[in-house]
Amino acid sequence: MSDRNVTVRASQAGAFSICPRFGYYVLAGFEPGPPSELTERAFVDGNIHEPSVLAYAEKALNGVIRERQKELSFNLDGITITGHVDGIIEADECEAVVEAKALSARGFASILDEGIKSFPQYLVQVNLYMHGLGIKKAFLVVRNKETPRYRHYDHCIIELDYDADVVAETVRIIREVLDMVEKQEPPERLTPPSWKCSPSWCEYYELCYEGVGEADRPPAKRVVVPPEDVAEIIVRLAEAREERAELEREIEHLEGLVRSYLEHEKKDRARVGDIEVSRILRTRETVDYARIKALPEEIKQGLMRVTTYEMLKVRKGVK
Ligand code: SF4
Repeated sequence: MSDRNVTVRASQAGAFSICPRFGYYVLAGFEPGPPSELTERAFVDGNIHEPSVLAYAEKALNGVIRERQKELSFNLDGITITGHVDGIIEADECEAVVEAKALSARGFASILDEGIKSFPQYLVQVNLYMHGLGIKKAFLVVRNKETPRYRHYDHCIIELDYDADVVAETVRIIREVLDMVEKQEPPERLTPPSWKCSPSWCEYYELCYEGVGEADRPPAKRVVVPPEDVAEIIVRLAEAREERAELEREIEHLEGLVRSYLEHEKKDRARVGDIEVSRILRTRETVDYARIKALPEEIKQGLMRVTTYEMLKVRKGVK
């Protein structure tokens, strides 16, 4: 196996285990494509949420976080691992690495269901941090960044003990990929392609699928929902409808306040910056269905048109 010294970011090392071909492009020094909008957004979201997720961690774990964004660089079996640790917490006489993550509702649901194994890249990242710092415990503090606006953020904390096997396996994969780089033999593409295999989440996607026709590429958009995903989609649908209902109630309340202001001030409009609210009169034509229904059948048929359409009925609390 290759004993060449290379530098790998802890946050990237986990992706090597998801796709060795991705690792190949990194270690061989291929130029990555520009970050996708989704990647950039995830990065910005991470930065926005991090301070308050860490504040939540201090409260929930009853501890104090020091050394925030600690820069780390250490030698692991001849491989230089670098990274930024979100923080180190001292709580209940224990010291632990803290890593904050802000996930989509879908990612949050999968980490709740399956634990850390649904995010193997985080397991590797956090174990590398523990290894580099000589700390035996870590807390992965996860927020559902898509928690409905009307309630406090959903969080979960995953406690992890240092696992030397995870670190050893990471070294093995990096060395194996390095061998392939030296032989200039890229690993196979992922089969079946995973979530990572998309222009949104793999910065080497275009390079990797260069010359491969559209039909043979992993679908950019999943059209058919796999059965294992449907439960989560239904939960999110119910939540989204609740959010909409909450927003509609808020709009109604705010409209009532503005209306009472306009009436009290005897005004027709109010303006704030480039926003204008004005009272306008509209005429609405309504039909008295009770009277139409009472008409003889032949007349009624000429007046009424019946169409059938399908709708989704969503109910919560069904036993
Ligand atoms: S596009 Fe897919 S197979 Fe290719 S490097 Fe990225 S994750 Fe791996």
